[in-house]
This record gives sequence, structure tokens and C-alpha cells, in this order.
Amino acid sequence: MGNLVALRVHLRPGDSILAPADAHIFDNEVGTVSWLAGGFPKPLECDHRPGVPSAETVSAAATATGPYFALRPTLLCLENTHAAAGGAVVTADDSSALVAAARSAGLTTHLDGARIWNAAVHLGVDPGELTSEFDTVQVCLSKGLGAPVGSVVCGSEAFVTEARRVRKMLGGGVRQAGILGAAGLVALERIDRLALDHHHASVLADGLLDRGWTVSPVTTNIVMTPVDNPVDTAESLSAVGIRVLPSRSAVRWMTYSGVSLDDVHCALDRVTDWTSSAQQRAS
Ligand SMILES: *Cc1c(COP(=O)(O)O)cnc(C)c1O
Repeated sequence: MGNLVALRVHLRPGDSILAPADAHIFDNEVGTVSWLAGGFPKPLECDHRPGVPSAETVSAAATATGPYFALRPTLLCLENTHAAAGGAVVTADDSSALVAAARSAGLTTHLDGARIWNAAVHLGVDPGELTSEFDTVQVCLSKGLGAPVGSVVCGSEAFVTEARRVRKMLGGGVRQAGILGAAGLVALERIDRLALDHHHASVLADGLLDRGWTVSPVTTNIVMTPVDNPVDTAESLSAVGIRVLPSRSAVRWMTYSGVSLDDVHCALDRVTDWTSSAQQRAS
């Protein structure tokens, strides 16, 4: 709802919204970018680095013009970290260059910063250094920070005034919100411990590599293992008590505050057992 509220404020029917290919707002928000916010998705090739298009790609898409029936590019949305790219981090320099390219073509900019804390901890910078260039930002207090629920949408006073109206329109009005706010404040005290999750993810990745898995480069708390049949792999891992998320061509393993180093070793032991029993079945 955080992203949706922001996009609904920014977009009008007939607008297109530029975002990196496989962005969460395109693939994982049930198409609301179009049917509730009114924008037509324009995925950008990540030709700069994983999860990050180049400034040239943004400029080309942002300045696209056409006859009266053409879409009108009005908004650039980046994602930091980029989940589908395996938790890839967007640096402050990358953000500045892309925001500048969008802004010089007259576009508004939004950041899907669901995991901005992971990016900030990885880079060793204040989260503000990664967000201040954008017109609006959405951040999650759940995910790695561990609050049961809660996202925050930030922008100018005029934007927030509009955003409150849209939130209400979408059924997101809350009255006794203090208990959620309190959980959110606890979450914000836990930013530094994300470094542990990143360490656990690298231990998991190394262990999977040792066991013969293909593992994409790991930057933060997401480990992507490309496999031939992600759904089958996820199901058989689930049978030994390991929950992973199947995507198109990989399964995704996540670390967060609910996963300890012992849990990681336990999971790796189960992977070993599972692999050897699969080999026995095959032989
Ligand atoms: C979790 C997440 C969101 C917000 O999702 P909700 O399920 O609506 O809280 C937005 N963007 C990314 C990249 C996410 O991972």
C-alpha cells in the first residue's frame, strides 16, 4: 500500500512509469500500478549493473515522445535493494545519476526502499544518503527489521497531505495506531543488526556452493540459487523444513531476524541429507 499510495498520487491514466525490469511494483503488487494507480509499466533493462539501469537507458525512455496517442512517461521508480536482482544495492552515485536523468526530462521520482536499511548497512552510509534525491520514498519496518507490519511513505508536506487522502480511499485508515507505531520504533532500533543477516546470507551462500549449488553473487540478505525447476526444488526443500521462494529461474533464500546462525547451519545440514537421499533414490 505504501508504494501504491505514492504511485496513485503521482500518476494519471495515460502515463507510463519507468522502473528496472522485474521491479516489485510491476511483478509483486497484483498489477495495482495500472488498475489502481493508472500508470502503464515501462520496464527498463538493467544494463548498468544488477537491478540498475544506466542513465542513458533512463534518459532514452524518459524523453520518448510521440503523437497524441503515445504514453507519457512521468515517473521513475527505483528499488533499493532490488529484490529480484538478489538484494542488489543501488549506490548514492547511481541514484543521483538516474534521478538527474529523469528529472532533466521532467519526470517525478519515487524510491521503493523496502530494504533501504540493508543497502545503507552494506554501504556503511546513512539511509538519507540513498533517499534524499527522490521526490518520494517508501520504506518497510517489517522485512529484515522485524516489525509485524508497517511501511512509511515520505515526501513533501503537500505530497503527504494527498497521500493521506489516497490511503483513506484505499481502506488504509487506522485509528489506534500506537501499537503499530511502537513496533515500528523498536524496528528502527534494530537497523545495525542487519549486518548479521548479511553475514548469515554469506555463510549460507558459501555452504550451498560447497554442496555443489549454483549461487548468484550475494550482497545483502538474499541468496538466489538458479535451478532448472524452481517450484519442484522449493517443494522438496519444504518437505525437509526449509522454506524458500520459487521465482522464474531460481529459488530465493532469505535471512532476517528470525533466522540465527545455528538455523543456517541446520538448513545446510538438511540440504546435505536431502542431496544424499536424492542421490540414493537416483541410483
Ligand atoms: C515487501 C516489499 C514491498 C512492500 O510489500 P508489502 O507486502 O505491501 O508490505 C515493496 N517493495 C519491495 C521490494 C518489497 O520487498
